[in-house]
Amino acid sequence: MDSVRTCVGCRVRALRTTLLRVVAIDSTLVPDERASLPGRGAWVHETPECVDAAIRRRAFVRALRVSGPLDTQTFEKRLNGYGNKVNGSK
Ligand SMILES: [Zn+2]
Repeated sequence: MDSVRTCVGCRVRALRTTLLRVVAIDSTLVPDERASLPGRGAWVHETPECVDAAIRRRAFVRALRVSGPLDTQTFEKRLNGYGNKVNGSK
């Protein structure tokens, strides 16, 4: 049985295999591709929409219990590169 997680961006429950796990390391948001890093994780659809929503609502900060600022730029850049490849535009 696949386990189900809630996307912190759109709050939709989805199979964990369709979501990306992210963790905070030294106040930086990093993707946990293999879902193997220790500590608290948050789950999000790997789409600009869900990541944007989660960042705007500070959902990552809350889900990961980060105190202080969380650097999400590295993660956003990675995601944007992925989106460009898929869309072929922008
Ligand atoms: Zn989502």
